[in-house]
Amino acid sequence: MPTIEVDADYDAGAKFYDSEMRRAAKEHVCCECGTKIQAGERYEHVAGKWDKVEVFKTCSLCAEIRNHFSGGGFCHGSLWEGVHEYVYGNFYSKTIEEVAEVSSWLDGLSDEAKKEVLRRYEEEYVRHDMDPF
Ligand SMILES: [Zn+2]
Repeated sequence: MPTIEVDADYDAGAKFYDSEMRRAAKEHVCCECGTKIQAGERYEHVAGKWDKVEVFKTCSLCAEIRNHFSGGGFCHGSLWEGVHEYVYGNFYSKTIEEVAEVSSWLDGLSDEAKKEVLRRYEEEYVRHDMDPF
């Protein structure tokens, strides 16, 4: 199971941390990808208290991908940054086709989640390719 290195809290250090899957009664925005969680869709609702009480809403796709990648812990809102770092660390300069062939790091994810990770990889890869350092 791949692990994203993060320097963040998760439930460690939280005075309380409560996570559950809910069905949206109204529209929310995913704290990871920024897309809308429509009423009726399932999403992850987290309430925790660090310095103050905070609430994080995560769409089911991001929640699945986070569960897959975060072995040690994570910081809400940094999922995709972490995935990109993982991908660049392991697959730098590989094409999308080559990355897709290294399937083991995506094992266990749903097809939809795999597609999303690869779509974002392609997006980043192409963007960086066009705009080199
Ligand atoms: Zn999301």
